[in-house]
Amino acid sequence: MTRHAKPPKNPAPGAATAFETPAPHCDACHQEIAVCDGVQYGSTATGYRLLCSRCFNEEVAASGGLDFQHVQFQPLEMRDAVGELHEFHFRVHLLGDRVALDAFEFKGGEPRGYRFQALDDAEVDLFSLMGRLVGRMRRALATQHVEEERGQFHIKDLLVRGRVEWDENEDGRVPLIVIDGHEIPWDEFGRMLMTFEGWQFKLEIRDKSEEI
Ligand SMILES: [Zn+2]
Repeated sequence: MTRHAKPPKNPAPGAATAFETPAPHCDACHQEIAVCDGVQYGSTATGYRLLCSRCFNEEVAASGGLDFQHVQFQPLEMRDAVGELHEFHFRVHLLGDRVALDAFEFKGGEPRGYRFQALDDAEVDLFSLMGRLVGRMRRALATQHVEEERGQFHIKDLLVRGRVEWDENEDGRVPLIVIDGHEIPWDEFGRMLMTFEGWQFKLEIRDKSEEI
């Protein structure tokens, strides 16, 4: 049986790893696993082990005969269009012949807000992939789609870019929309759209690794 990363409970399209896993130490190197860096690796036949990204990537590279050198990127702070600081953590995961570089915003010690992903061939130069991802993050943070006024968000111009997320309060019935790193419940988003009653809109769904 092919060994693979066990998918998370509610996988987003393209998601391949379980970053919500609570166990703190890697079953291979026994180092503590940072938040977002753990992955359940194995198969239903052999059972799953919890690995850090480095050990996970080394095992995937060895099984695929890939020339791959893991890089652990350090967290980075970036300012958005209104001068607010955002802290990002990075994760590198080999997905067969592809590599995914994920950037998670951290708020209060957990991944919330902005999230970005870059995908490329497994043997790409990870530093150049990081350079491209950071460029995309800077462009995204420089653009403001919503603004807050008296505790309520409003659509600033005529364009909204965002991400569809799981809303625990709604048990997945309707999405939580993340715009400019702000979590906006579906009903709230509906209220924001009522500014444009009678207008048209165009909704285009894109993979999380694409720049939109
Ligand atoms: Zn490890």
